[in-house]
Amino acid sequence: MLGSMMNRPLLIAPLLKHAARWNGGQEIVSRRCEGDIHRYTYADAYRRVGQLAHALSDFGIVLGDRVATLAWNTYRHLELYFGVSGIGAVCHTINPRLFPDQIAYIINHAQDRILCLDLTFVPLMEKLAAHCPKVEAYVILTDRAHMPETSLPNALSYEEWIADRPESFDWPEFPETTASSLCYTSGTTGNPKGVLYTHRSSVLHSYGIAMPDVFNVSRASCILPAVPMFHVNAWGVPYMAPLIGAKLVLPGPALAGAPMAELIATEGVTLLAGVPTIWRMLLDHLKATGQRLDSVDRVVIGGAACPPGMIQEFDDLGTYVLHAWGMTETSPLGTANNLTPEEHALPQDQRTARQVKQGRPVSGVDLRITGTEGEDLPHDGKAFGDLWIQGHWIASSYFGRDDDPAFKDGWFMTGDVATIDPEGRMQIVDRSKDVIKSGGEWISTIELENIAASMPGIAEAAVVGLKHPKWDERPLLLCVRKEGSTATKEQVLAGYEGRIAKWWLPDDVVFVEGLPHTATGKLLKTKLREEFSSYYFDTVGAV
Ligand code: ADP
Repeated sequence: MLGSMMNRPLLIAPLLKHAARWNGGQEIVSRRCEGDIHRYTYADAYRRVGQLAHALSDFGIVLGDRVATLAWNTYRHLELYFGVSGIGAVCHTINPRLFPDQIAYIINHAQDRILCLDLTFVPLMEKLAAHCPKVEAYVILTDRAHMPETSLPNALSYEEWIADRPESFDWPEFPETTASSLCYTSGTTGNPKGVLYTHRSSVLHSYGIAMPDVFNVSRASCILPAVPMFHVNAWGVPYMAPLIGAKLVLPGPALAGAPMAELIATEGVTLLAGVPTIWRMLLDHLKATGQRLDSVDRVVIGGAACPPGMIQEFDDLGTYVLHAWGMTETSPLGTANNLTPEEHALPQDQRTARQVKQGRPVSGVDLRITGTEGEDLPHDGKAFGDLWIQGHWIASSYFGRDDDPAFKDGWFMTGDVATIDPEGRMQIVDRSKDVIKSGGEWISTIELENIAASMPGIAEAAVVGLKHPKWDERPLLLCVRKEGSTATKEQVLAGYEGRIAKWWLPDDVVFVEGLPHTATGKLLKTKLREEFSSYYFDTVGAV
């Protein structure tokens, strides 16, 4: 028997409509690429999104067409999120940190019809346009006065494009499983893979992340997503903020410590969200200037493991670090690490020991960890194995490819290796392709790297497993010294004493000038493994 409640599809445009009607005076503040601060309200945004929807429809964009963005976090990018998806087209957010040939590849793979780009990215696209023949127009996110001289074919100014069009738009209704946006993973091997979000997944994810044990936000919140809108939809914040009517602060291209600190203080930001590297810049700036973070209650940190030292630095400023984990394939929020009131009362080191874990699954997703035979592993905080996830906002395949083995029996294999403790907290141990298999046991490269990076004199560390005749694989530690540091191999190895099992100790330490990274800043271990594949171990057999 079917129930008799209204069966309204979960769509994205109504999120902004609700904000405009019921929190219409709430502000959206952006630092623009032109350099100044722009300020308007949800009611203003909704009117301009209506104008944008007319511009897109008049251009001939229809249900299912792809419209790409290459843009920073600003109100214009936000308008594209709602205008493009609102008419049933797909908002393809392009990550400018991908390598240029990958950018051309994904534009062609997605068959983008229009590309909307910030002024910053005009030179990049001028070089790539010839390789993207299917793009029919380039909309530059600025006004006539700031339009650059450009060789881009069919270049329009966004402001001129949407101006003088009606502000109200009759938003269509379509099935909630209609594609709403598209984001490609950075991928360390092969071409980037597309994840095609639905209206339903995006709306449910917004409800999921707003909850108290996750972002814990309300109409009284002021949220600054430093995580870019080209990176997994800025972790869903642009949809979630209008859902709850929170003030939104968008930092544009200025992510360095000083401009961020200024924006946080002047706008009274209560919640930050971003990757550790951004917060390193902010914390260094705060330390150098003696500034504080008085308005900020919590900072959501994910995308990479949050170092324990960073948790303590924020703690000293009165800001709670909500460590979270996710992936492009998971919209991205999979887990978040909130403490219970009893845990909050613990001494700082005990709190931090819990906070470094990636947290408990958000209601709406489920997790499991499996061993080498595919068997479920216990949640004892010790056994580690492949991490699987399923739920309302988890991908079920990649865009345009149905055969990926990561999707199996209704689960997605994340490629991460993790433990789950008796309190349900998941902790990432490693990527499955990086974990070192030594004598039938696994060694976490992340743990070895974190310890090395916490030693004085070490700026960055990478651990790779190298073929070993007796043990199958053994760890090699590569370190970049801090400027002026004279750290030695012996000092670094001594730094591990008492912190790891003896057999985890790296067989050797090599000091290097720098380490290779992917386009999105992750260590490129495939390259390191290649480079050091014939590295001779003095210690062969000695472990
Ligand atoms: P990104 O664009 O951030 O690289 P991806 O989807 O490519 O997004 O990367 C997701 C991966 O990042 C995860 O599978 C995991 O390995 C890593 N990751 C994300 N959050 C965390 C975290 N809090 N701690 C450790 N690793 C994380």
